[in-house]
Amino acid sequence: MSDGGHAHPGADAVAADRAAFRAYLRDHNLPATAQRLAIADVVLGTDRHLSAEEIARELRSQGATAGTATVYRTVEVLVRSGLVVERDFGEGFKRYEASRGVPHHEHLLCTVCGDVTEFRDERLERMTTLLAEAHDFSRQRHRLVIYGLCGRCRRGHSHTAGPGSRGA
Ligand SMILES: [Zn+2]
Ligand SMILES: [Zn+2]
Repeated sequence: MSDGGHAHPGADAVAADRAAFRAYLRDHNLPATAQRLAIADVVLGTDRHLSAEEIARELRSQGATAGTATVYRTVEVLVRSGLVVERDFGEGFKRYEASRGVPHHEHLLCTVCGDVTEFRDERLERMTTLLAEAHDFSRQRHRLVIYGLCGRCRRGHSHTAGPGSRGA
């Protein structure tokens, strides 16, 4: 699962998420406004890790209008619904990814283009338990972000406009 423009989740999974979001809005007496649904479609329709700024930009590119405040309020609802997970990679802004029952995973973050790649490795999981035990520590959870340069940036082809959310 990469942000490299080819992260398209299955249509069935997206349709199920959309239906679940509508049901969540209904159950919580929140109006299913066109804006809310459009924002949910952007976040749920990708496996990327989008910032609020990127969501707003995507909506504008679709000809929809939604202010950043509306985007923030709606992603908050999506996070409360459990359909979306909030990530803070220490960039000064949050990113949002559809949870879709995705198991625990780690991230690689390109500091040049903002590309986020996911990975999962059983050796790392075992290592965190061993490390914790060596420190007389009972491990509960961990998270790892590896910062650096993605292959494309290292090879000098800029492939996106960048995270764009810097300073947001
Ligand atoms: Zn990059
Ligand atoms: Zn992720």
